Amino acid sequence: MNKALHFAKNNKLLTLVAAIYLLLFIFQPAKAMLSLGNSLYYIKEMLTIMPVILLLTALISAWVPTSTIEKNLGKNSGWKGAVFSFLLGSFSAGPIYAAFPVSKTLLQKGASIANIVVLLSTWAVVKVPMLLNEAKFLSPKFMALRWVLTTISIFIMGYLTEKIVKPQHLPADSSQENTGENTISINREYCIGCALCTKIAPAYFKMEGKKAIVIKQNPGPAALTLLQAAREKCPAQVIKM
Ligand code: SF4
Repeated sequence: MNKALHFAKNNKLLTLVAAIYLLLFIFQPAKAMLSLGNSLYYIKEMLTIMPVILLLTALISAWVPTSTIEKNLGKNSGWKGAVFSFLLGSFSAGPIYAAFPVSKTLLQKGASIANIVVLLSTWAVVKVPMLLNEAKFLSPKFMALRWVLTTISIFIMGYLTEKIVKPQHLPADSSQENTGENTISINREYCIGCALCTKIAPAYFKMEGKKAIVIKQNPGPAALTLLQAAREKCPAQVIKM
């Protein structure tokens, strides 16, 4: 019983869907069967696509150096990064949900939020094969005008999202994630290597390469003030406690 509760607590969405299915099967069995058929169709589709995507993300993780991603898709990549993201999304294949694990890996490797918005949006709405179909069914003029307007909107969305969504809103790097109470973590992908934290709390942070790492956990009450100061003063806002 405890295990079931623990599972439900850790898988709230899945539990909610299972509960809805249960209610549907009791009160509307025909609709439940129809819904189950649709769900199975999508699960089958995902099972054929996701292994390839997960392999791709693993390859990016293992083979593409962080510095390459930072240079070409990072915050300082400028228009080059935006255009690269746009082309990557335009010539991609597969449904949009396949883009999420790829995007997460790129973000963890140093891609900027703006470029990920551009990549995801182009993947979703301006893929080249889709444009050809659109021109065929809705006329080339329709397709061209929609493409231009959508492209402008995508770059604006990227810029605005970057301004609104901060690195601390993103899931922390799993290698540095919190594991309990009173633990400290750094989302290292977004650490800018200013070393300020190591000066404020040298017993807890040190530089490793060009980024900071946490070297001590479970701070006592005396150290908390220092650590809170480091967290507040961190210019990239990537320290979590
Ligand atoms: S203060 Fe923040 S940005 Fe600077 S090194 Fe420490 S964690 Fe990185």
